[in-house]
Amino acid sequence: MPKYVVVTGGVVSSLGKGIAAASLGLLLKARGLRVTLQKLDPYLNVDPGTMSPFQHGEVFVTDDGAESDLDLGHYERFTNTSVTRSHNVTAGQVYDTILSKERRGDYLGRTVQVIPHVTDEIKRRITNLALTSQADVAIIEIGGTVGDIESLPFLEAVRQLRLELRRDVLFVHVTLVPYLKVAGEVKTKPTQHSVRELREIGIQPDILLCRSEVSLDSEVREKIALFCNVPTEAVIGAADRSSIYEVPLMFHEGGLDSLVVQGLGLDTDAPDLRVWADFVSRVREPGKECEIAVVGKYTHVRDAYKSIVEAFVHAGAANRARVRVRWVEAGDLETHGAAESLAEVDGVLVPGGFGERGIEGKIEAARHARERGIPYFGLCLGLQVATIEFARHVVGWQEAHSSEFDAHAAQKVIDLMADQEGISEKGGTMRLGSYRCALKPGSLAARAYGRSEVEERHRHRYEFNNKYAAQLQSRGLVFSGRCVGRDLIEIVELPDHPWFMAVQFHPEFKSRPHDPHPLFVDFVRAALERRRARLGSDALTREEAGSGTQPGAEPPTGPVAGARAPNRRDV
Ligand code: GLN
Repeated sequence: MPKYVVVTGGVVSSLGKGIAAASLGLLLKARGLRVTLQKLDPYLNVDPGTMSPFQHGEVFVTDDGAESDLDLGHYERFTNTSVTRSHNVTAGQVYDTILSKERRGDYLGRTVQVIPHVTDEIKRRITNLALTSQADVAIIEIGGTVGDIESLPFLEAVRQLRLELRRDVLFVHVTLVPYLKVAGEVKTKPTQHSVRELREIGIQPDILLCRSEVSLDSEVREKIALFCNVPTEAVIGAADRSSIYEVPLMFHEGGLDSLVVQGLGLDTDAPDLRVWADFVSRVREPGKECEIAVVGKYTHVRDAYKSIVEAFVHAGAANRARVRVRWVEAGDLETHGAAESLAEVDGVLVPGGFGERGIEGKIEAARHARERGIPYFGLCLGLQVATIEFARHVVGWQEAHSSEFDAHAAQKVIDLMADQEGISEKGGTMRLGSYRCALKPGSLAARAYGRSEVEERHRHRYEFNNKYAAQLQSRGLVFSGRCVGRDLIEIVELPDHPWFMAVQFHPEFKSRPHDPHPLFVDFVRAALERRRARLGSDALTREEAGSGTQPGAEPPTGPVAGARAPNRRDV
């Protein structure tokens, strides 16, 4: 029978609960246990697919096409496994199920209530996943902060689970222990209050993970232990780290995984963390660096491009380099011009996006990269703008566009496909999830992947318009990836360019520390090459000597590893 670890968060949001859950997953897996991770989100949206990245950060897409919470990305990256739609449960889904049952008359005249109907449905989803995935341990992360109205049914459900399964359920609570400069000391009161709040609803945490700017001395840990009714060794300090990938190692040193296996009565060997530690040291000591511009629309929202940032960390480590990201707001690029906004970058990446704002800036970025021979990597919308740019400036169709942005464009080089016409609803109309893609032998894509066929994840409505394929091809655009079984172009590239590739899918979702994405790895290699050519190897060597222990490509905001965007709405 599976055992459960429930991860809750207190005091404030943005404490990195997802990273904590993913880190525990990694540690238990490294002990030889089968682990599954699930995120319970208390908001009423059925999924985050219709939520703005400004509010919710990136929408992470799974192989089976779920539009899910970005924490699932951390789960995949830390445990090197793929999750599915059942790994993200929202209150919206739970109520959707219950209301459909009620309309069908399944409740046979009974009053439908939060307890037991909502809580039963939550428990059903938790235990179902644990059983079907044959997990030894299921880690359940509850979104939001203890004390929120919305999360109460979820907390009540896991309280009941503990009552039913007793020692097979363990509670880990992530809290904040703030350092007050004026007092010159850390304060334990917020942690005490948040644990009290948990206990009021019947949950006594077993382990506390205390986020803090400084490390906690034994006196502080003893005090927290006493007031929160846990043993001192179960108060684990979690001081800020420069890279989220250091967190599992820190928790292991703090004793987290041994406490969990002891608490659950599991018998395992100590974890082997050598490969992970090696990856972390490559992230910390990169040796050389390059700078890549990400030209997007949500560039000031730290979490909106989470998987891209992480893919750069992985690809950087694979190249023994640090990738610095220059965040370029596409609208600013329209004002200042590509030459200024993209001055001295070693590569340009245009990520996915929706809506017209900034679109001309992105097209300009693709043009600049193409004309100046700067490595260019287009993801999803990044393929669409590269195609529009090529049609306008190489073929000469000045009014070429995507029908998403101009329904009356003279050449709709990006368009809805015939079977999609007439779609008006926004939810659930996209090409989502994994599709097979055949690669053109000898192409840049085939060389970078080192394979002839791949599977990649999609999340978009519009497609390359095959009507114009022959004309674009005759001017030099190469179609190096095609969807298997459907007449869709998935990858375009330019052979007369150092590195110019754009893909209709989202490779960033599949990049992992142990398995960096080959296209990101090759793109970063090309960017490093350009930097070497531009600065000369002397400059690069000097840089190599001086680059020290820089963190990865995390954008420089906030001290909290794995924290969410400050403007992410609390749930
Ligand atoms: N807006 C474009 C589409 O729907 C691109 C989407 C994306 O980049 N994810 O096709």
